[in-house]
Amino acid sequence: MLIDGGLTEALSGARYENINPATESVLGTTADAGTGDLDAAIAAARRAFDETTWATDHEFRARCLLQLHDAIASEEDQLRAELVAEVGTPVKVTYMGQLRWPLAEAFRWPAQMISNFEWERCLPDRDIKGVAHHRDVFKEPVGVVGAIIPWNYPFEITANKLGPALATGNTVVLKPAPDTPWNATRIGRLIAECTDIPAGVVNIVTSSDRRIGAALVTDPRVDMISFTGSTQVGRDIMAAGAPTLKRLFLELGGKSAMIVCDDADFAKVLPASGAACIHAGQTCTSLTRLLLPRSRYGAAIEQLADVWRNIPRGDPNDPKVLCGPLVNSVQRDRVDNHVRRAEQQGARIVVGGKPMPGFDRGYFYEPTLIADVTTAMDIARDEVFGPVLVAIPYDDDDDAVRIANDSIYGLAGAVYSESTQRAKSIARRVRAGVLSVNGGMWYGADAPFGGFKSSGVGRQNGVEGLETYTETKVVGWV
Ligand code: NAD
Repeated sequence: MLIDGGLTEALSGARYENINPATESVLGTTADAGTGDLDAAIAAARRAFDETTWATDHEFRARCLLQLHDAIASEEDQLRAELVAEVGTPVKVTYMGQLRWPLAEAFRWPAQMISNFEWERCLPDRDIKGVAHHRDVFKEPVGVVGAIIPWNYPFEITANKLGPALATGNTVVLKPAPDTPWNATRIGRLIAECTDIPAGVVNIVTSSDRRIGAALVTDPRVDMISFTGSTQVGRDIMAAGAPTLKRLFLELGGKSAMIVCDDADFAKVLPASGAACIHAGQTCTSLTRLLLPRSRYGAAIEQLADVWRNIPRGDPNDPKVLCGPLVNSVQRDRVDNHVRRAEQQGARIVVGGKPMPGFDRGYFYEPTLIADVTTAMDIARDEVFGPVLVAIPYDDDDDAVRIANDSIYGLAGAVYSESTQRAKSIARRVRAGVLSVNGGMWYGADAPFGGFKSSGVGRQNGVEGLETYTETKVVGWV
């Protein structure tokens, strides 16, 4: 772990095992923090914020962030191998959102923005009894940020929290997901060994105990929680943060819709639905509800079956594989329970629907296509977080929009039509944070990302993402 500038074991000396989800073998062990370790980390972050120039020295912060980028980039290959081993992510995905994309910009873009961000501005003067009152608006860091990370895209999420939080002058206590600690402890080591980031500015606390995350949320020395994870834990954090009025940034679950219009070229478009089982569907923005025009539903299911039977699956080290293992056995069993319930409620399993045959070890589940799904079924409403796609028929564009919005979630979405105009106007009616039209890519360190409704509160990345980590102050002066 990294606590107050030192690379350290847990105070108790305890360690816990890091398991490879593809093989179930023990990769090694990690420091298992208790409340004493967390207390030291929070104290260090508080002190670094209150007593150093980190919060105010823009130039220094930009330099440190670029050092951190260079340090991580110099170990990209080792980080890639580690992510495949501890996350079970297909190596192919590490050349996309799992590693390559965030590595390219998550630290560099915020570092560059330090010199472009509007840190202060003037409001028009107010004349009060003949005296001009001047008013300045300042953006200041929130303070100590507790960052809590899930296991699915751990480096991506860590980098996209650290970059903007540090660029805006905050200090951080970062708690990785228990299942995937090593990418974060690597960053901790690189911070200590290769950057001038002062002691206490970043602290990395690994623990197998979820109470450590909960303790971060209730501690009065922590000003803000930046959380990515499940909607249920997001709710718990919101409630637990209330007594200390925590600033909250929550990136939560999704049940996003891919709308295929009746004029779309199905042969071209339907294969894109296979993206729902990239990384075994453990992607918050996965398009897990496929909305198809009723008039072409039957034919589309046949075409889809062909696509879904042939999705490259299995060993995450195989460069062709898209669908690797789930992160642990609990998650695999959870996915299977969702599928069994869908069957009981009258849905039809067209492809897959069981743990992947041929794998005695590892938490693999088959790419699963489910048809004859109604919007009332649980499988159409619950986030499965597995390689499972439900196909739902709709009557017309209005009906498609209605179904897409008939969800507690609102994270992502996609629309396909021969008419870009039509697809864009449908996209504007979907209540979600990020939308793709005809395969268009929305991702980037400069692109605000987050959810409507129960998919979250606030935005990360982009200028909005920098704002997330700031407080606003007005000074009136004569
Ligand atoms: P999770 O909510 O179970 O855990 C996430 C993190 O929170 C872990 O580090 C965990 O230890 C910690 N935690 C658990 N209970 C806590 C508590 N009471 N207080 C504080 N911290 C606590 O999520 P997960 O299973 O690791 O990740 C999968 C979920 O994350 C999915 O629902 C997925 O959609 C969501 N997710 C969302 C986004 C997004 O940006 N919207 C991105 C990735 C994942």
